[in-house]
Amino acid sequence: MSTERDEVAVVGAGLAGCLLACFLARRGYPVALYERRPDPRTGTVERGRSINLALSERGLDALRRIGLDEQVMADALPMRGRMIHPVEGESQFQSYSVSGDRAINSISRGALNNALLDAATALPGVRVAFDHRLVGLDPVGGEMTFETPQGKVTATASVVLGADGAGSAVRGQLLAYGGLTESLDFLDYGYKELTIPPIGGEFALDPGALHIWPRGTSMMIALPNPDRSFTCTLFWPTHGTRSFASLSSPAAIERFFADHYPDLVPLAPNLVDDYQHNPVGVLGTVRCTPWQVAGRVGLLGDAAHAIVPFYGQGANCAFEDVVELDRCLDECDDEWAAALPLFQHRRQDDAEAIARMALANFVEMRDKVTSPVFRTRKKVEHA
Ligand code: FAD
Repeated sequence: MSTERDEVAVVGAGLAGCLLACFLARRGYPVALYERRPDPRTGTVERGRSINLALSERGLDALRRIGLDEQVMADALPMRGRMIHPVEGESQFQSYSVSGDRAINSISRGALNNALLDAATALPGVRVAFDHRLVGLDPVGGEMTFETPQGKVTATASVVLGADGAGSAVRGQLLAYGGLTESLDFLDYGYKELTIPPIGGEFALDPGALHIWPRGTSMMIALPNPDRSFTCTLFWPTHGTRSFASLSSPAAIERFFADHYPDLVPLAPNLVDDYQHNPVGVLGTVRCTPWQVAGRVGLLGDAAHAIVPFYGQGANCAFEDVVELDRCLDECDDEWAAALPLFQHRRQDDAEAIARMALANFVEMRDKVTSPVFRTRKKVEHA
């Protein structure tokens, strides 16, 4: 592989950025990976911020291509269906497949990010600059400005790729430059994480299922973690009588959960503390076009098309983006000015489709999973 290619800058050492660095380094590119945060392998995890995620075949396919699938799957917990928790009565299991053997995988977001970071930095030509927050970008000259603990620094690259997430600074710079248009559709819902610790060293709930507490206009889900805890995510309205802010005292929190999530209460001893101290995250859909400017600055992953999390496909889509961009580079003989528009052409309709499906799945998860249609399907699958 040639080592004479110009350096590519990837902004954001999250899931997409680290995977992208691996793919580009394998193509022979020197890669500079810029990340606003400190090295996550030496720091602490931010409290209450999406500790796990569901990895499906779409994402696994990308990991397989860089030989990381087995390492990541070693700690994965396969979830073969969803377990519905009604307010009263028995929980009901609904298989994801007729055969019952297909699964999505609960994995630690932090462990996945660290594994990708290790894989990227092990490759020749990849260097990572932590504590570098992009605050300026000249898309024509490829000059970037970063805020660092030592003050502002600049760097230049022939190609700059924004993998810096839903609130992408690269996208913001392209917007300010007049190179793209964007729309941000925020939901009137937020999310907050709670924890169900292990009981006597064992899982408190079935670890082979994604647990759902559908409650009509709101819901809670829980995914298992390798340490035998579960991370619950409440998806509640941000305003009104059923919003997070409506429960302001420990007594009100305890009473509400006892009334609406009664089977959770004995399993979540830190419920009140988690509820009062974990942050409320925002949820929304990001659309923008074009995904590249001047044939040398591109966007991918959440930076180009963030979606709401109800299909569990945002990271999986970001991984698919990387595979597709790699394919476009193949087909365009590494001519970035041709590969970047081709990448957008191939991915934008798919990104829009999953954005709509993710919104529709919120209604299904919080409401329709309790309908007789699903209960009948469950009986057929288990016949
Ligand atoms: P990110 O993971 O957001 O990474 C962006 C990186 O860029 C970060 O490291 C950030 O620090 C860095 N950065 C940001 N700004 C700058 C800057 N100015 N300069 C330098 N660096 C910067 N997806 C799934 O596939 N399955 C799931 O089950 C799932 N569950 C989810 C649950 C919740 C509650 C949420 C909110 C999301 C969920 N997602 C899930 C979506 C998934 O988290 C995202 O789609 C995925 O993280 C996108 O990866 P990314 O690399 O594009 O962006």
